[in-house]
Amino acid sequence: MMHFSPGAASPSTVQELAFTDPLTGLGNGRRFVDKIERLIAERSDDPAPFAVGVVDLDGFKPINDLFGRGAGDDILTQVAMRLRAAMDEASTVTRIGADEFAFLFPMVFGAESLVKRARMLIEILSAPYDIGDRTARLSASVGCALFYFGDDTAEKLIDKCETALYQAKRSGRGRVVVYTQEMEEAAKHVTRIEQALRRAVAAGEVAPHFQPIVDLKTRKVVGFEALARWTDPDLGTISPGVFIPIAEERGIIGPLSQLLLQKATTAAGTWPSDLFLSFNLSPSQLVDHNTGLQLLSILDRTGFDPRRLEIEITETGLMNDPVSARKIMDDLHAAGIRVALDDFGTGQSSLGRLREFHFDKLKIDRAFVSPIHDDRASEHIVRAILSLCDGLGMVSVAEGVETEAQARRLMLLGCDGGQGYLFGRPVQAQDALAAIDKPKRIDLGPMAPSNDAKGDFTT
Ligand code: C2E
Ligand code: CA
Ligand code: CA
Repeated sequence: MMHFSPGAASPSTVQELAFTDPLTGLGNGRRFVDKIERLIAERSDDPAPFAVGVVDLDGFKPINDLFGRGAGDDILTQVAMRLRAAMDEASTVTRIGADEFAFLFPMVFGAESLVKRARMLIEILSAPYDIGDRTARLSASVGCALFYFGDDTAEKLIDKCETALYQAKRSGRGRVVVYTQEMEEAAKHVTRIEQALRRAVAAGEVAPHFQPIVDLKTRKVVGFEALARWTDPDLGTISPGVFIPIAEERGIIGPLSQLLLQKATTAAGTWPSDLFLSFNLSPSQLVDHNTGLQLLSILDRTGFDPRRLEIEITETGLMNDPVSARKIMDDLHAAGIRVALDDFGTGQSSLGRLREFHFDKLKIDRAFVSPIHDDRASEHIVRAILSLCDGLGMVSVAEGVETEAQARRLMLLGCDGGQGYLFGRPVQAQDALAAIDKPKRIDLGPMAPSNDAKGDFTT
């Protein structure tokens, strides 16, 4: 903390204040730039590299929401103290953003020792924080860069750290990434996709396709999952696995999702009324309190019955910000919309979440469905998930069902629904209804002797 007496601020104190973060007493962004510039100047005669890095706290916002701003400030102060204590004499740490800190290691000359030091910082930050009589945990991601004798400026170095940090965050929590030239190319490609996507969303050019979900016993189509599809005139067809995460990161997911829901509910409104529509929400949408109301206003406009709508969310979505996620789920349930837990078993699973949140349906990830015949562990996991569904009153759906043998095995294990290429690929709105009448299983003729077909399979 700083000490100064009002009215007696000498020019150097005034300058000191302009370079200090008032909350933590660390230097601020200006100090950081200043320190780097001085070091660059020094190193012009002494061509030894040095290292800079940006530390970003993962999941700080939910802590603020959960414990209040005062507690958030408390944690930031503790983070600052820990980081400062971890610096040696030559090194500096500053606070350059709300939950972003930056370090300068003048005596670190290579990537290996840089990663080691950065990992140590993450470790130090991941120990629990005391806030009143409670404790909170945080993780942190670090993006860093090395200055080699060259034309880098302080700004360029910080940009490189941010590019590396972006990669670190993309690949999960608690990572350290050191900037490389290839990252720059990848970042440019992402920006190209982002710009094209903004234009496409504004022009209404992204559309949902629909994949049937069947009742595994009767093989009747019971609903469709809407899956986003986009072809850009220059970039070609881009998979949702690529553009959805970019839409999330770059703040386009809201308008994109609204466009898709509007198109999907308009199409589904023409289907027989016993068919449901399943729609995906992204993790970042579960952080935004308005999501529930926005969805409802679209249903209102397109006249789609909320009781025919299911929203699919993933475990990641719940982890990021449980308080907001709960509010949105409550809004959806209150309107009669069902909520499904998507990709079950692949995320940062916590069975505790199943107790805290009520799901109407659980979708078993393809990772367990595909190997169900070759891998005993997968079969056991599927069995366990199904008994969990049974006990908690959730409908079960297996994803990625590609073979008749998988469908049978799942049905015999008691799985309710199935989705996958066996029953139909995602198709355009106008072809969805035609998919309903097609037989949903290959006719194997008289029960072929196969190791999984028990004699009691009849439909
Ligand atoms: P998801 O929600 O798990 O969707 C299922 C994915 O599995 C889809 O990939 C689907 O085409 C694919 N799939 C279905 N059956 C089979 C099968 O039998 N075998 C194989 N190998 N794959 C199968 P897709 O359409 O590429 O979508 C990828 C992911 O992108 C989705 O995974 C979802 O997380 C996201 N996504 C797609 N559309 C939307 C959307 O409108 N909003 C949001 N937020 N996310 C979306
Ligand atoms: Ca899904
Ligand atoms: Ca899924």
